[in-house]
Amino acid sequence: MFEWSEQHKQIRGMIRRFVQTSIVPHRDALEFGEMPPYDILRKLLRSFGADEMALAQFQADIAREKSGAAPRDRKPRAEFSSGAADAAAMRVLPILEISRHSPGMITALGVSVGLTSTAIMKKGTLAQKEAFVPPLLTLEKVGAWAITEPGSGSDAFGAMRSTARRDGDFYVLNGNKTFITNGPYADTIVFICKLDDGRPLGEGEERKVVTFVLDGDTPGLVRSKPLRKMGLHASPTGELFLTDVRVPKDRLLGEDEDAPSREGAKDTFTNERTAVAAMALGIVERCVELCTEYAKTRVQFGRPIGEFQLIQLKLAKMAVARMNIQNLVFRQIELAGWGRSMDIAEASSCKLYCAQATMEVCLEAVQLFGGNGYMAEYQVEQLCRDAKVLQIYGGTDEIQISQIARTMMAG
Ligand SMILES: Cc1cc2nc3c(=O)[nH]c(=O)nc-3n(C[C@H](O)[C@H](O)[C@H](O)COP(=O)(O)OP(=O)(O)OC[C@H]3O[C@@H](n4cnc5c(N)ncnc54)[C@H](O)[C@@H]3O)c2cc1C
Repeated sequence: MFEWSEQHKQIRGMIRRFVQTSIVPHRDALEFGEMPPYDILRKLLRSFGADEMALAQFQADIAREKSGAAPRDRKPRAEFSSGAADAAAMRVLPILEISRHSPGMITALGVSVGLTSTAIMKKGTLAQKEAFVPPLLTLEKVGAWAITEPGSGSDAFGAMRSTARRDGDFYVLNGNKTFITNGPYADTIVFICKLDDGRPLGEGEERKVVTFVLDGDTPGLVRSKPLRKMGLHASPTGELFLTDVRVPKDRLLGEDEDAPSREGAKDTFTNERTAVAAMALGIVERCVELCTEYAKTRVQFGRPIGEFQLIQLKLAKMAVARMNIQNLVFRQIELAGWGRSMDIAEASSCKLYCAQATMEVCLEAVQLFGGNGYMAEYQVEQLCRDAKVLQIYGGTDEIQISQIARTMMAG
C-alpha cells in the first residue's frame, strides 16, 4: 500500500511554501484582475528545477529515438519499481498543493506542459518534437490543445466542423474552437480537425481526423480575449477563429494524414481524467482544513458550531471523501510503479467519483460557513466555483457514466 514518504512530505512542504509566498498574495489579481498565471508558473518550474528535468528527459527521449531504440515504454513490469512510483508521486505533489489555492493555475500549466507537449511527443515527427516541445516544457511558450467547437463538445468527432483542405504542399484550415484553455495567450496550438475530402459538410462523419501544430500568430488565426466564466479564473479560456489559415505540410502532426488522430485525442482524454483526482484531493483537503478550523471557532447558541451534529455530519462526510480520493490518487501512483495506468473505464470511474465528491464537499463547505461561505473573502466560495469544472471538462459526468456502462455491457 502506497504512503507518502518523508521525502514526499518534505517536498510538499517546499511547494506549500512556494504557494504561500508566490501564489496566495496574488490571489485577487489572478481571480479578479486578469493577471495571467504564466509568470508565476514559470517561476514555479524554475524554482524546483522542473524545467531542467523535463528538458533532460526530453533530450534522452530524442536521443533514444535518433538511435533507433524503442521509445521509453510504460509496459507492465513483473516487479514493482519504486523509482517509477516515486516519479508519479512527484508529478502529483505540485498538482495537489497548488489546487488547494488555485485549481486554475494547474489547469493552465497542465494543458501547456502536459496535454499540448504530450500530443506533439506522441504523434509528431522528430523535427516537430525538437521544434515545438522544449519551449512548451519550460513555459517559454504557452500551449493550447483545441478540439472543442461551438457545435461539438461531448460529441467531439461526430459533430466536428473544422476542416483542413489540401492545396498542393500546403493545407488550408478553417473552423472555430471554443473553451480552449490558454487560447487567448497560446503561442503553440494543437488544432484537431477533419480532412476536407470534397464531400459536402454534414456527410463528413467518416472523414479522417487530422492534427496540426500551429503558431499563435499565424495569419488568419485569431485568438479571442479570455471568456468570462463562473470560476477557474486563473486559467484563461478562449475561442480560436481560423479563416483560410495556410500552413505547409510540415505542420501536419506526424506529416501523415493516416496517423491515428482519434486515438491520440482519446489518450489525451484518459490523461486528463486521471489528473483530475490529484486536483480533487487538493481542493477537498483545503475544504476539510478550512471547515474544521471554522467549526471550532465559529460560535452560535453559545457553542462552537462543530458541536452540532449536523455540522459534524458535514465534516465526517468531507473526511470520507478526502480518504477515498486520496486512495484513488495512491492507486494511480501504485499502478505507475507496476508500469501500468488506469484503463479508460477505470479512469472514467475515478474522474466521475472525484469530480462529484469534490463538488459535494465544496457545496457543504459553503453551507458550513453560512453567509461567510457565500462571500469572496472566504476561500470556500472560490473553491466551490472552481470545482464545478471538474464535472465538465475532460468529459462531463454524463459522458463518464456512459463510458463506464458501455464497458460493463461489453464485458
Ligand atoms: C474551463 C474549461 C476549459 C476547457 N478547456 C478545453 C481545452 O483546453 N480544449 C478543448 O478542446 N476543450 C476544452 N474544454 C471543453 C470541454 O471539454 C467541453 O466543455 C466538454 O467536453 C463538454 O462539451 P460541451 O461543453 O459542448 O457540452 P455538451 O456536449 O453540449 O453537453 C451538454 C450537456 O449534455 C450532456 N450530454 C452530452 N452528450 C450526452 C450523452 N451522450 N448522454 C448523456 N448526456 C449527454 C452533457 O453531459 C452536458 O450535461 C473546456 C471547458 C471548460 C469549461
